[in-house]
Amino acid sequence: MKVLIYNEFLHEREEGEAKRLYPNGIHHRLAEALGGIDDSLEFSFATLEDHAQVITKEKLDETDVLIWWGHMAHHKVEDSVVDLVCEAVNKGMGLVCLHSGHESKVFRRLMGTRCSVHWRVDYENGNIWMLDETHPLCRGVHNPIRLEAEETYSEPFDIPTPDELVGITWWKGGEIFRSLCVYKRGHGKIVYFQPGHETLPSYYNEDVIRVIDNAVHYTYPSVRIDELTSRYRMPEEKDVRRALYQSPENRESMIVSWDELGDGTVRYTGAEHPHTYELKVDP
Ligand code: ZN
Repeated sequence: MKVLIYNEFLHEREEGEAKRLYPNGIHHRLAEALGGIDDSLEFSFATLEDHAQVITKEKLDETDVLIWWGHMAHHKVEDSVVDLVCEAVNKGMGLVCLHSGHESKVFRRLMGTRCSVHWRVDYENGNIWMLDETHPLCRGVHNPIRLEAEETYSEPFDIPTPDELVGITWWKGGEIFRSLCVYKRGHGKIVYFQPGHETLPSYYNEDVIRVIDNAVHYTYPSVRIDELTSRYRMPEEKDVRRALYQSPENRESMIVSWDELGDGTVRYTGAEHPHTYELKVDP
């Protein structure tokens, strides 16, 4: 299972708590922690610095799940990369959006809303309550997940109503937050999960890591749309030409019916597709 982790990797390079907790970056901590409990995952990485070089169409075609962590440089992510990621999700790639990734261009585009939250930086403890312990995202996880300290995100969270609301965080201060949400966009699944402030050790919390691992498996694509469309693709001109003029014995497997309209134009109905097309065929 190929997992690409995007982390903007800015906070952890400045002196301070983020660097102390995540000296190699949040992306490497996630890979280390996830890899420690799941040997089916194969990781690669992108950061703000190299994201436009790493996150290409070819890379996304071979990526099963993309994990996204960003905070202060959402605006520096290239729009062309956002286009590619959204297209890949629509075709089936999984996306796991963490913490302040809720305001990333990618997540906002896929949600269609501002995705803003109310927040405090009092680093209080909170409980993430799982609403359905049978849900695949809850496998092997304590209920509630106890967060020693985390940035306090609270409602209203400007997101569309989740397709599946799996977890809600209650904070000591009384606020609540929809902290574990699932969406389907096109053929891809998206999980949003709240923990992961850069100066707090949430990515050392076993339950938090277990949820992210579950999210990778849950959003893993059962099929990529490219595989579907190739199964039902229209014959290309060269195939039509071959079926009509060179291999009439194979014609029925490709073309249900056809008429020559003169001037080299053929109107035909493809065997694997319900529509009728006209094509200028030069025999
Ligand atoms: Zn934060």
